[in-house]
Amino acid sequence: MSETIQSGHRRQELFIKKSTRVAASYLNRAKALSEMPEAAKPFFNVLEDTYVKLRELSEKESRKTIGTLCVMVPSELIYAAGAVPVRLCSGSYTAYSIGDDTIPRDACPLVKAVMGFGEIKALPVFEQCSLLVAPVTCDCKKKLAGVIDSVKNTVPLHIPPLKKEDADTEVFLRELYRLIPVLEGATGREITAGSLAQGINIVGEAQYEMSEFLWYRRHDPALLHGTQVMAIMNAYSYMPADAWARQMHRLNREMKSRLEQGKFVSRKNQPRILVTGSPIAFPNLKIPLLIEEMGGILAADETCMGERGLYDPVSVIDPGFDGMMRALASRYTKPCTCPVFVDNSQRVYRIRQMIREHKIQGIIYHVLRGCLVYDYEYQIMEEEMGKLNVPIIRVESDYNEEDVEQLRIRIEAFIELIKLKEYADLQGWKNLNKNKRK
Ligand code: SF4
Ligand code: SF4
Repeated sequence: MSETIQSGHRRQELFIKKSTRVAASYLNRAKALSEMPEAAKPFFNVLEDTYVKLRELSEKESRKTIGTLCVMVPSELIYAAGAVPVRLCSGSYTAYSIGDDTIPRDACPLVKAVMGFGEIKALPVFEQCSLLVAPVTCDCKKKLAGVIDSVKNTVPLHIPPLKKEDADTEVFLRELYRLIPVLEGATGREITAGSLAQGINIVGEAQYEMSEFLWYRRHDPALLHGTQVMAIMNAYSYMPADAWARQMHRLNREMKSRLEQGKFVSRKNQPRILVTGSPIAFPNLKIPLLIEEMGGILAADETCMGERGLYDPVSVIDPGFDGMMRALASRYTKPCTCPVFVDNSQRVYRIRQMIREHKIQGIIYHVLRGCLVYDYEYQIMEEEMGKLNVPIIRVESDYNEEDVEQLRIRIEAFIELIKLKEYADLQGWKNLNKNKRK
């Protein structure tokens, strides 16, 4: 065996040792937050299989897999082509350190982690993919689409920067039509009106279960820790949607019985926090864990690896092939609150709605280092939250554990601030009532 091959194997072995240890430790910390429902455990097993045991998608799965790098790639089309989508946006610190050698220093860690996995060839779900679909969204993803093609056959997907007008949707519709023969070529299966309708139904069922689950997630006191919810949402990336939906159905039944028995994981008045911003991709559960280990409850998330990915259903008005394609083009751009779009006022609207529905008391705005698109929107969000008198902080983080202590101090102080504010608001309200009675 040549020296280069030997050192390549050694590097891969070291990588596997380190990356599996980090993934296992984040899984264990998330599990340790509270006793999980039995039906939540299979989702954790999927993450463990993918990142710790380094298994392929599913031993029972005979369909081809297609990698995607954003929630704006319609999974329905991939199912219609007879394949299973796997979302490869990763939070691996170890893969990030490999990608850091290839990708420019100021790029975000998420694209470095994806590139790292491409180079080290040690993540079976990545290796298993027949093709990658890489949406051209921010600059980091755009350049990633170019470079990752050297390690995995990649098709870039143009996302229009505007989404308000019908002409913008038409641009994306043409892209989706362009994607059809590429997917068919990768799977050897034709996309027909029947298979497309089936694809829409498969994802629709997952969305239906998710909407029921969100109803339970809104409950105060909480029925499940938000970090565990983030893990469940992340597991969607590595499971066929129908299997995820069936498991979610079981989880919803268990959430119902938890509610009936009054089995809560938080106290009434424990600070309810919403996290928004750059994607929180497994195993990078650093921010959710810090929030909940410091005494907050992660009651909601407005992120694309969380609630956003399955929130909006596809609305088919014309059931013909073109009608379904138009419904997909519209669903994957118009309601999307990702800041890569020029006008993104919907995100403010959505967060205001979530504050009401989830009884949110504070917002943690997460920015991955180098993620300019989310950073741009912080100021707008801060102004809007000021009008609502909802505390907000911006926290910047990277894919390593060096910033943990600093983040811990800031998050702990933020949680204390929410408690003080709640106390002061309550006192103010009591005094107001007392004065009224005088
Ligand atoms: S942040 Fe936006 S561009 Fe990046 S993966 Fe999520 S939805 Fe796609
Ligand atoms: S949106 Fe942010 S986190 Fe996502 S790829 Fe672009 S820079 Fe990275």
